[in-house]
Amino acid sequence: MSDPQTRLIHHPYVPPAGFDAPQAGVHKASTVFFANVAAMRARDWKNKAGYTYGLHGTPTTFTLEARLATLEGGQQCVLVPSGLAAIATVSLALLKTGDEVLIPSNVYGPSRTLAEGELSGWGITHQLYDPMDVADLAERIGARTKLVWLEAPGSVTMEFPDLVAQVRLCRERGVPCALDNTWGAGLAFNPFDLGQGQAVDLSVHALTKYPSGGGDVLMGSIVTCDEVLHLRIKGAHMRLGQGVGANDAEALLRSLPSIALRYDAHDRAARALAGWLQQRPEVAQLLHPAFEGSPGHPHWLALCGAAGSAAGNGRAAGIFSVILHERYSAAQVDAFVDALQLFRLGYSWGGPVSLVVPYDLAAMRQPWPSHLARGTLVRFSVGLEAVEDLQADLARALRQLQG
Ligand SMILES: *Cc1c(COP(=O)(O)O)cnc(C)c1O
Repeated sequence: MSDPQTRLIHHPYVPPAGFDAPQAGVHKASTVFFANVAAMRARDWKNKAGYTYGLHGTPTTFTLEARLATLEGGQQCVLVPSGLAAIATVSLALLKTGDEVLIPSNVYGPSRTLAEGELSGWGITHQLYDPMDVADLAERIGARTKLVWLEAPGSVTMEFPDLVAQVRLCRERGVPCALDNTWGAGLAFNPFDLGQGQAVDLSVHALTKYPSGGGDVLMGSIVTCDEVLHLRIKGAHMRLGQGVGANDAEALLRSLPSIALRYDAHDRAARALAGWLQQRPEVAQLLHPAFEGSPGHPHWLALCGAAGSAAGNGRAAGIFSVILHERYSAAQVDAFVDALQLFRLGYSWGGPVSLVVPYDLAAMRQPWPSHLARGTLVRFSVGLEAVEDLQADLARALRQLQG
């Protein structure tokens, strides 16, 4: 049982006497009972050997936490109500007034908004660094830097950084690094074994995406491989009153065994469509880390693609962007997106329905990154529909650009 997928499915779980079944039960509680005052006083809310209060964990959430730690190659896990809550909880746990956090310039947008909003209001500064230039990150790490956020690849523009070099740098400078691992999902690479002896300190994951796979659950996780760091997160998590619903946790436990199958199906379909779109005259640039010429492709190949790398299975998620040629007006691109029928207009990814979002890159990135073609960016999240149907949908909608 060396394969994490096998271990994920054949995971330790002690069922109630006389009952054994594929899924753990749903345990719902705010109150849990103690036999007597001595037992109440002795019980430690941080210790998963016992239960103190629903907010601090139930058999259902502890089971999901254990499986997610397995999936991501870590030791401990804390569940939060969304992927963004995972990002916020890490930032609040590790940063205080006077500290600085470094964020990649292609970061998941709301993460930057948090830095500009609450963090800034509490006297925590931030700087954006160039994810494709390790020297730029090195220059920005200073005495006040107490957290570096990493994302591989970056949201929307999909640049794949040299994660190993970034993590090594953070380690050398003694700064904790946290990876938003939603794209890798614990499947494309192991964040706690990146190769060359490098491991991130924290991995956050929007379980909303591939672990759920249904487009119907919001949840996030924070996985660590260090008890002291885990307890810092768990302490902040408790004080902030974060918790998740038992039925949502059960939905995730139900989806997890099929995550690798779904991830690979999304990946195959996305690569087929990305390869087809890349050949189209309307497309100025394809942004998909598994494609040669896409920004950071060699880093993806080194980490996820080649045999002998940390994971070495060549996986990529089912999400990519294209930059449509600058000869098309914003109104034409909007008409293209509106003309799509199977690709629905909506945020998020990892669910069965293909999704599309046009982005205003000029508003997101200043100045315009030199590795990106000029034009309008459209991001696709490929669902589980038949590839031929999705391709026909794209071909039909592309005609809007000609009109
Ligand atoms: C979706 C997403 C999040 C946030 O997850 P929510 O559950 O929607 O809050 C964070 N990071 C990345 C990269 C995401 O794609």
